[in-house]
Amino acid sequence: MSETTPISWADSTCNPTMGCTGCELWNEDRKTCYAGSQHVKYGQARQGYSPTFEKITFWPGRVESTAKLPDLRGFRRHEKPWLDGSRRLIFLSDMGDSLCSPVPFEWLRGGQPTGRTATTSSVPRLPA
Ligand code: SF4
Repeated sequence: MSETTPISWADSTCNPTMGCTGCELWNEDRKTCYAGSQHVKYGQARQGYSPTFEKITFWPGRVESTAKLPDLRGFRRHEKPWLDGSRRLIFLSDMGDSLCSPVPFEWLRGGQPTGRTATTSSVPRLPA
């Protein structure tokens, strides 16, 4: 979690999980995902990263801490005036994909990771 970020469209970042199972930007043939590249650089060295990008790690408390950051409506963002008037804009999962399939829905609801892999049958249906 970072209260500030150089990302132009966001005020803060929050990563309830780190890492990702990949996509067309991160696979055996291609390694161009920024989050993946950052993990290659820092994954073994910096606290708060997954040891490797492909290993999803869970970080309890980050969402709760981020949710406690003050609202920014009514404040001038001197470095990002284009965001003035908006609530705090938080980039969720800039260092991975918290919606990738190994992340259990229980975790996204605020529970603890169960260690099991999410399956289609475990995904609750939206009300009709
Ligand atoms: S974080 Fe996003 S862009 Fe990067 S590998 Fe995962 S799905 Fe792809």
